Amino acid sequence: EPGLYIVATPIGNLSDLSPRGATILSQADMIACEDSRVTAKLLQHIGVKRPMMPYHDHNADRVRPGLIDRMGNESIALVSDAGTPLISDPGYKLVRDARAAGVPVVTIPGPCAAIAALTLAGLPSDRFLFLGFLPPKQKARADAIAEVAAVRATLILYESGPRLAVTLTALAEGLGDREAAVAREISKRFEECVTESLSALAARYADNPPKGEIVVIVAPPGEAPPASEDDADAALAEALTRLP
Ligand code: SAM
Repeated sequence: EPGLYIVATPIGNLSDLSPRGATILSQADMIACEDSRVTAKLLQHIGVKRPMMPYHDHNADRVRPGLIDRMGNESIALVSDAGTPLISDPGYKLVRDARAAGVPVVTIPGPCAAIAALTLAGLPSDRFLFLGFLPPKQKARADAIAEVAAVRATLILYESGPRLAVTLTALAEGLGDREAAVAREISKRFEECVTESLSALAARYADNPPKGEIVVIVAPPGEAPPASEDDADAALAEALTRLP
């Protein structure tokens, strides 16, 4: 069917592509992707060949109108190099313009590093704020952190290995020394998730910047240490003895 198909792809383990995502990719008239070498590997994994065209920050404005036109009678799939398109990746304006043009937009949900990290960290997951990448420059970064310091939600950020320690230090300064987690290489061979205070994490990574891809999760302000399930069970048992 003609339209725009937003297809989430793996963030490491190629088996994480959903069967529906694979079907959509194998039937698409055209796959708009960031890096065709990365997408070619995914297509090879599922044993299909489809035409690809680049859609990334540098050509998006130029090629978008032509893509929207084609969606009138072709199925165009949008993928990014990893995870869910539009999440710290191109695609939002393509969806906006497709909808404005009356083109059907279908999403095929799947892996997203932010959500995957949140499920690993052991920090509150009921309310969260996704910040993407913080600005690299010190002042802009400090301002961005100050802006969210009072937000009563778990924070989720993307960061690179070389910048990790500096960012953790800036977070500790701007937010206070909260509990946090560094999740690395999720779904890959060297997957790891370390939960400590921001300052302890900063110290841990200061002299040995970690390799690979990283998500930082920061607990909400003023969070009491989570009661263990044993504590909860004991409290419940104690309360029950006092019931009439
Ligand atoms: N659209 C992607 C998604 O849905 O997660 C995010 C794209 S963003 C350009 C890339 C960043 O996501 C990386 O720099 C890293 O912070 C994070 N990331 C991607 N894959 C990851 C993985 N396997 N483990 C940890 N973080 C990952």
